[in-house]
Amino acid sequence: MDMAGKKGSRKTKVRVAHELPKRRRNAIQEAMNAHKLEDRSDWDRSAEWGNTRFYRKIIKPGTMRTVSLPLLETNLGDPWPIPVTILHGARPGPTITVLGGVHGDELTGPSACTHLLSNAFTDLGKPLDPTQMAGTLRIVPIINLPGYRSKSRYFPDGRDLNRQFPGDFKGSTTRRVAAQMWKHLLDDADAIVDIHSAGRGRSNMPQIRADLAHPGSNILAKAFGIEIILDSKPPSGSLRKTAIANDIPSITYEGGGANLLDHESVNVALQGVINVLKSLRMIPGNPNRPRFRMLASGSHWLRAGEGGLLDMFVSSGSVMREGEVIATISDPANPGLTVDIVAPEDGLLIGAATNPFTAAGMAVGHFLPISRHIGLLRDQIDGNRRFLVCGSQNDAVWREETEIDEVAIDVQGGGVDSEWVVSKSTQHQPSDDTFSEPEEENEA
Ligand SMILES: [Zn+2]
Repeated sequence: MDMAGKKGSRKTKVRVAHELPKRRRNAIQEAMNAHKLEDRSDWDRSAEWGNTRFYRKIIKPGTMRTVSLPLLETNLGDPWPIPVTILHGARPGPTITVLGGVHGDELTGPSACTHLLSNAFTDLGKPLDPTQMAGTLRIVPIINLPGYRSKSRYFPDGRDLNRQFPGDFKGSTTRRVAAQMWKHLLDDADAIVDIHSAGRGRSNMPQIRADLAHPGSNILAKAFGIEIILDSKPPSGSLRKTAIANDIPSITYEGGGANLLDHESVNVALQGVINVLKSLRMIPGNPNRPRFRMLASGSHWLRAGEGGLLDMFVSSGSVMREGEVIATISDPANPGLTVDIVAPEDGLLIGAATNPFTAAGMAVGHFLPISRHIGLLRDQIDGNRRFLVCGSQNDAVWREETEIDEVAIDVQGGGVDSEWVVSKSTQHQPSDDTFSEPEEENEA
């Protein structure tokens, strides 16, 4: 579709920044005001620039090399080596780490990173040609290789790596892995892009999660070049939380689902990484930018009030009107009874269940209520009323930052990871605000 062509027909510029909760808006604004644009002498194109080292291996300027990094420093047993590819640019610039597969069953990151390391991206004259690059790009297609081999989110000791940062070399197995990652891949990074997908049984439409009150992360989130950005404080022990505590810009990209390979989500991830590198002037060219951005302060989980067989009518990314049916639950053991789960208001289904086996209380949808800006979404949908994310159709265009409509979506009481509402249904139940999201349904 021609998004650029819509520019002329647009009426007044949407300005809704005042809709974010006041305290949060002030915090973001203060942080951004205090933030000095990085003007680092070591990124100066004429600065000294030579070989770099990664895990005792040398990489010369303008070359790339894949190095094996053991996740465990051990003399006995499997050290769990993973491949890390370092593209060391010919000229000075920042160091960026792109991660896939922190959760072993989430395949969007591994697929996107593998594409980025193909000849189509790294050959002479291609987007990631190291001879044309400034700075250093580290790409790690799969962190949790043991989990991937066993099709599991977790490490073999049953722990979630993304709750163990900053790690501990004397701690549990997964804490040791976190410490090793932190030491070799993250601690000296100037920015981190961590690619995830929804957990098992669900799928996410492409979205960015970032702490927008952290200036570097705010800039990085927007540089990725997609429409939906969830302003979310990272969970305790997460990579993102530790990175921000160390003032390293860090974002989480979410797209697709565990055990799924979603081409659109992979495509958006590829373009997002390229956009980030272009924004940082690490590679030539202008970054693509979306027609608008939605900065959301929260979201709601829609839960099944009953258990049974879940029949989803729509998929993640669908633009919903209030009262429209998202899914129906029936139970083959109780023929004749069904319960509808409907959209609680106008909005966007940013995540949806893909597993039809449902128990009462399970998340059916992750919902972003969008009241008066719903028109922005409706201008950019396919025949099934699924929102077409910038970059998903190879349709992205370059536009000035000032041409982007930026709207804030204030979701009352809805944290990305912790809040939920029970879906409106014939079995309506009051919501319970004390409930917190189980770990496997959280982000990242
Ligand atoms: Zn994940």
